Amino acid sequence: MIFRSQLRHSVRLWLGALLFGLLAGLALELCLGALRFTAAPPGLPDGAEPAVVWLLSAAGTCVLALGVFGVLADAAGRRRQAALRASLDVAHERLREQALSDPLTGLPNRALFEERLARQLGAAEGGQQESLAVLFIDLDGFKPINDSFGHAAGDTVLAEVGQRLRGLVGSEDLAARVGGDEFLLLLRLDGEAGRAPRMATQVLQVISKPYRLPNLVDVNLSCSIGIVTYPAHGPGSKLLANADAAMYAAKRAGGSSFAVFAPSMDQDARLQLELQHDLRMAIERHELELYYQPKVHALSSQITGAEALVRWNHPLRGMISPTVFIPVAERFALISALGYWVIEEACRQVREWLDQGLRMRVAVNLSMQQLRQEDLVPRIRAALEHHQVDPSLLTFEITESVAMEDATMRAFGALAGVGVSLSIDDFGTAYSNFAALRKLPAKQLKIDRSLFTDIDESGDALAVVDAMIKMAHALGLKVVAEGVETERQRDLLLALHCDEFQGYLYGRPMPAHMLSLWALGEGETHPVDFRASLYDPRVLIG
Ligand code: C2E
Ligand code: MG
Ligand code: MG
Repeated sequence: MIFRSQLRHSVRLWLGALLFGLLAGLALELCLGALRFTAAPPGLPDGAEPAVVWLLSAAGTCVLALGVFGVLADAAGRRRQAALRASLDVAHERLREQALSDPLTGLPNRALFEERLARQLGAAEGGQQESLAVLFIDLDGFKPINDSFGHAAGDTVLAEVGQRLRGLVGSEDLAARVGGDEFLLLLRLDGEAGRAPRMATQVLQVISKPYRLPNLVDVNLSCSIGIVTYPAHGPGSKLLANADAAMYAAKRAGGSSFAVFAPSMDQDARLQLELQHDLRMAIERHELELYYQPKVHALSSQITGAEALVRWNHPLRGMISPTVFIPVAERFALISALGYWVIEEACRQVREWLDQGLRMRVAVNLSMQQLRQEDLVPRIRAALEHHQVDPSLLTFEITESVAMEDATMRAFGALAGVGVSLSIDDFGTAYSNFAALRKLPAKQLKIDRSLFTDIDESGDALAVVDAMIKMAHALGLKVVAEGVETERQRDLLLALHCDEFQGYLYGRPMPAHMLSLWALGEGETHPVDFRASLYDPRVLIG
């Protein structure tokens, strides 16, 4: 196109130059003719005519040469302009590609995905047959890898996931990275709806192959996939939201699977939105409450302290478990306000127990986002001072995966400086870095119940828990087994020298006043007593 217009322009220029040359030649010829026919002008010496003719010819030649030079200079300028425009086009295209692709994986980003989706939806509008599918892929277990091995390792895994997905899709399809560990596939179906679940099965297979990290450790991952097809799960404007809802359904079902969108899933997504809306008001409306679950000394079977576990008494939905609303709080950036309420309330309760003559040690859970909060340590200090509670009565529990992050280690150091104790929660559910574990100023390690539920049947489980307890003791950490439900579990864990127990065998999480009654020896009989040193003899209880 550009070439043709340039050619046209050149032809026009050359024709113009030719015409100009002809006209100049003609004018010259006319002058010469006039000179030949007229007498020499007065004042012009005889024999000067040839010189005049020569001068006029030279002038004519100069005019012609100027014309040709002008044409050549214009052509060169045009060529330069065209080259400049071409390189600008290349730079522009490269910028566009950069703006529309994810630098880590090289895959298209959300903007390009949505552009392509809109184009394909436009082409498919009004059609009856299933024309396209979107697969929403979210990695399971990526966070612990990122947290335990660092961001460079996380980036290696994401780049590899990107490559594996790109290898799966055809030239008609599109794979994109649209968030931290979220990917989308856009598939052309051409009426063949079965292609979407087949592709999801392939995705599950390729993602589950091991990943080699820069430190040469191999890790495994799985993913949860939500599938929508168009027009079945349309309209187009709701397609991505529906794919997201289907992905969450797959995740809630335990992950490592796919789910095809159903209208009920939309309700689940809406429920999450409703919960986050209600949760914003829950603190002001005094709907949150801390329950306390006793921790028991293994050898003496006496209560040494309690873990504070938050509950939400929803006015319409009743009691909601933290496993439901803590993820909502984390997802919608509400965990900070909730976390500070928990710290404040735990300190208030410890003060109340102290006033009743009970020196209860209370453990409070901290989430990853709280640990990143700049003002965490000053706020903990302020809460302790406000309620006049000794920091030694407070323990903070941090889950294993979070505890291994670099940023967390710094926060750990600052917390230890306040004088509170630190405990590593849910140990055995992530990838522990023993070197890092050694450096943590933690005093306690809580073994997750998933590791010992079948300890009475499985020799492997027994061997693993045995090794963990030995390792923890070697690092100077006390071990709490969390989730002890049977006497058999307790006996086996005791034989392995576990230091403390927490679980339904001893007591479920309960409101503070119930634990107070228990400490006072009132109400129903209880399987265990409080350690005598918890009582302050100077205060008359009750
Ligand atoms: P976690 O910190 O590991 O707490 C232990 C969970 O195990 C509690 O669940 C407890 O009720 C349960 N549990 C204790 N003994 C047994 C047992 O014998 N059998 C069984 N099946 N379960 C037992 P809960 O109260 O539902 O809390 C779940 C999780 O929610 C906690 O796990 C913690 O991660 C989180 N959470 C609770 N309160 C808070 C909080 O105030 N802040 C933050 N950030 N997270 C919290
Ligand atoms: Mg805990
Ligand atoms: Mg736990």
